[in-house]
Amino acid sequence: ELTDITALLLSRIRDVEDYPEPGVVFKDITPLLADPAAFTALTDALAELTVRHGATKIVGLEARGFILGAPAALRAGVGFVPVRKAGKLPGATLRQAYDLEYGSAEIEVHAEDLSAGDRVMVIDDVLATGGTAEASLALVRRAGAEVAGVAVLMELGFLGGRARLEPALDGAPLEALLQV
Ligand code: AMP
Repeated sequence: ELTDITALLLSRIRDVEDYPEPGVVFKDITPLLADPAAFTALTDALAELTVRHGATKIVGLEARGFILGAPAALRAGVGFVPVRKAGKLPGATLRQAYDLEYGSAEIEVHAEDLSAGDRVMVIDDVLATGGTAEASLALVRRAGAEVAGVAVLMELGFLGGRARLEPALDGAPLEALLQV
């Protein structure tokens, strides 16, 4: 049961104050990754959500979404597709720009890795402003695939990411194992 693992997961996330800049509390998941019981519990929970929502692919967001998404995809028996920062993927890509607090960023996916028959669960470690997840949902839809949902380890509620994501989700679920 998902609720039983929240204390374990929470205990393995380290708060790093003023990183990468003053005023930010960085949620460091490396202690969780180093603990096989916690990492397994997280993988199982993400895989369960993937299966429950009928996804056929997991899209993992660079870089920690790769670490969480890949084992969850294997556990769920679905494919894994990386969404990368622009300029890293060698093949034909779809590219999506999105706004940051200062400036903008671009992410890409290999166009051939997603198709019309796919239902996609987007996975990342932390949902902050929701900008990255929102842009990846746009990529998924532009590739012709359906959105099964977004699943994150931790949602930083005070940043309003859930509200920002709502139109892009279009009724699909946002699943957060932990809320801050
Ligand atoms: P956002 O697009 O604002 O939702 O930011 C999400 C991305 O930035 C995710 O890939 C997170 O890994 C990372 N991120 C943002 N804020 C934090 C934080 N406080 N701690 C750890 N990672 C964060």
